[in-house]
Amino acid sequence: MDRYLDTSGSITAFSKEKIIDCHTHVREVNDIQKLVDVMKEANIDMINVACLPVLLDEYVTQNLLGLLFKVQKPGKIFAFGGLEYPNFELPSSEEEFLKQVEELMVLGFDGIKMIEGKPNARKGIGAPLYSHIYDGFYSYLENKKIPIIFHVGDPGSFWDAKRAPAFAVKSGWTYLDGTYPKKEELYGEVEELLKRYPGLNIIFPHFYFMGEEGIERASRFLNKWPNVSFDITPGIEMYDSFSRNSNEWREFFIKYQDRILFGTDNDYGDSINIICTMRRFLETEDEFSYWGFDLKGICLPKDVLEKIYGGNFIRYTGEVPKDVNVDLLMKKYNEIRKQVENSSFGEKLIEEMDRIYEGLSDLL
Ligand SMILES: [Zn+2]
Repeated sequence: MDRYLDTSGSITAFSKEKIIDCHTHVREVNDIQKLVDVMKEANIDMINVACLPVLLDEYVTQNLLGLLFKVQKPGKIFAFGGLEYPNFELPSSEEEFLKQVEELMVLGFDGIKMIEGKPNARKGIGAPLYSHIYDGFYSYLENKKIPIIFHVGDPGSFWDAKRAPAFAVKSGWTYLDGTYPKKEELYGEVEELLKRYPGLNIIFPHFYFMGEEGIERASRFLNKWPNVSFDITPGIEMYDSFSRNSNEWREFFIKYQDRILFGTDNDYGDSINIICTMRRFLETEDEFSYWGFDLKGICLPKDVLEKIYGGNFIRYTGEVPKDVNVDLLMKKYNEIRKQVENSSFGEKLIEEMDRIYEGLSDLL
């Protein structure tokens, strides 16, 4: 069974499903080709690029990169845009984010990416996820049925000095000093948000970190809020939870087959192995180990796999990615260019803006 983990050839061991990876990231222009290579090698047909909201200077290019990818590979790339926080702070008027989401949709985004519920982001913003500042924004998304990939929470171990994994410590994703919102507080904010906007089409990535909370709680949440879904983008620890109770989780995946989406997060430098591991988990009954975890596959039926591998995603977005409004994209580029030049973001970011321009100028 080692062939699944062989990175040298293309993946032939699995079923020939059409696959949409609903959750990828592009950090810089050079990542675009890397992702194209992964798609080819791993037989991924289409991807969705989740553009992070501009909460940090390094994210100012995120929306541009998503749109650049879309125009370079027409028909293959979806992109979800992120909000721009003026001066990296919450704006004072709810008009701001409403105006922004309208513009994001005209630009050609297929949905919205939020990371505002990640504990460090939420701490920095300093306002609940249901703050009235987002009212116009959420109402718009609810009325237009626009999907949101909304990162809320993190694995419970990130709040626990004894259990926090090394990569989380290294990335600054541990929440040990009491200044970060607790996982349950974030869940509470989502309950309040959904009470106000129950029609929001939210996809909670990483299974809403409910793998470790257990089947009963995950079921209760999905039953209570019929318009939300989970993606199964790793943290691999989620697959550890599934594998410990694989028969029951298999039933869960079948019962909620319309609410589960395939995504990879491609952030590992290890994309092919991640994709193989996820597919092996979904499609076989193999017992195997990955990253020190002992995993066991749940061997889902073909019609369920088809939904998880893309059917559920295109129910939100339609089958064809939206076209990019190139004129508006160039206007946006120039705005951000000015912002970067007038800031202390540094030379590296200006060089990156040059590379984006080069990519765009081919199209003009
Ligand atoms: Zn992600």
